[in-house]
Amino acid sequence: MATRVLKFGGTSVGSLERIRASAAIAAAERRRGEDVAVVVSAMAGETDRLLTLAAGLGFDLGDAETDVVISAGEQISAALMAMAIRLEGLHSQSFLGWQAGIRTDGPPGAARINGLDADPIRKSMETGYVPVMAGFQGASADGRVRTLGRGGTDLSAVALAAALNASCDIYTDVDGVFTTDPRIEPKARRIQKISYDEMLELAAQGAKVLQTRSAEFAKARNVPLRVLSSFAEPGQSEGTTIMRAEDIAERRIVSGIAYARDQARVALRGVSQTPEAAANVFSGLADADIGVDMIVQSPASEAGRANLEFTVDRRDLKNALARIGESDARDVLSETGLAKVSVVGLGLNRRADVARILYRALANENIAVRTVATSEIKISVLIENDAVEHAVRALHAAYGLDDAS
Ligand code: ADP
Ligand code: ASP
Ligand code: MG
Repeated sequence: MATRVLKFGGTSVGSLERIRASAAIAAAERRRGEDVAVVVSAMAGETDRLLTLAAGLGFDLGDAETDVVISAGEQISAALMAMAIRLEGLHSQSFLGWQAGIRTDGPPGAARINGLDADPIRKSMETGYVPVMAGFQGASADGRVRTLGRGGTDLSAVALAAALNASCDIYTDVDGVFTTDPRIEPKARRIQKISYDEMLELAAQGAKVLQTRSAEFAKARNVPLRVLSSFAEPGQSEGTTIMRAEDIAERRIVSGIAYARDQARVALRGVSQTPEAAANVFSGLADADIGVDMIVQSPASEAGRANLEFTVDRRDLKNALARIGESDARDVLSETGLAKVSVVGLGLNRRADVARILYRALANENIAVRTVATSEIKISVLIENDAVEHAVRALHAAYGLDDAS
């Protein structure tokens, strides 16, 4: 029998009413004849609330006990979801991450899944249950609870689907992946099909509809993936299918615009111009699992020295500055209040006018560009936080993505 993993995010389990609506979707899928396993997030806002409790005692994301506190939200919603599925007339039971065989490595707050023994979930389905797994969590080799990074329930779901050889449906509060966040650009259009690579890049650049690591995992393991709305009646959401680029007939130049607010720029002035010096800076950041982007290196006025700048998430800034403290830079500066807006598309590298469109659209809106970074399939600009919405809308229109209707 085919197996389908259904993931319900925070708003889809945000109240008892929403849990019952999501349970009805799971029950309808089960009744269509497929085996179904459900993965849930904490109720909307709950993880933030729990984080604030830990922070009240001075413990941040990254502490081992903070992980135990914040993983509790998923425990509650998993059991409530199992109850709601029972009210639909089906058998259901909940599983915490460790009970579902999720093993992790990596630091608290940002652990990675390095193994998943799907037997408990498989047996549950074989004995006629709809298992409901708590997302966002697993256990380290020494049996400690670990969380998988914010938005990590997407990863839990994709990893479970890979282990069960199942397809994975991510239910959320919008009807799929759009050309940009429909909450800031109502003219955004739903994308019917998108490649793993474009989805991965959109997610990495801030489109939080799918967590980056989950897109990476789905790509690596070829997990058939869809994003759907839990706010539609069962079976009514058309959603977005994420698949291999070769299987998509339509070729677009630009797929979408993503944004990430609250970025910080770090500038190291006068670092030794040796490959080791820069490597040391970035290995310290990598060890702490701090994502770095928009790296620019240029010669410094002093011979044999270079200036090195890059961006990190605002919330990683303190940690990042502590990590680069030991570099031989003459001076380290940082700046906050910035945002990154990125244009993503598999066809970008084929078009010569991509940069012209970008600069013209931003110039028309009087938006100053601080730094630009490009790759094969994206072009990102660093701008002031306040200009994000304007920039997203301007670029959405300039690249012809606006819904004409
Ligand atoms: P969940 O709680 O279900 O995991 P998230 O809040 O993490 O949901 O992700 C869904 C949100 O992602 C949407 O409400 C939307 O505002 C935002 N979003 C950002 N970019 C996009 C995009 N390109 N397409 C769809 N949604 C997007
Ligand atoms: N509850 C966790 C978070 O808010 C995980 C998730 O929702 O995916 O980040
Ligand atoms: Mg999410």
